[in-house]
Amino acid sequence: MEEKLSDRSNIFAEIIRRAKIVDGVCPHCSEHTLLISVVSDYFRCLNCGGDIEQKVNGKISYLPVDLSTEETKNGKKI
Ligand SMILES: [Zn+2]
Repeated sequence: MEEKLSDRSNIFAEIIRRAKIVDGVCPHCSEHTLLISVVSDYFRCLNCGGDIEQKVNGKISYLPVDLSTEETKNGKKI
């Protein structure tokens, strides 16, 4: 039993180790908060849970990932 718990916490520790955590201003909630990345260039706000795409054009900026815009592009109405 203890081994299973230990394995689970090791996996979680590995995720945390791979994840990139930065601080920045979230475009969704306008809060200066922590942003966590598990996929390259995509971050998630730890305050509101909004998805953010990191753009690097000389300077780093964070853009909100608007999932509803993607839906509209496909010509589908919700
Ligand atoms: Zn936010």
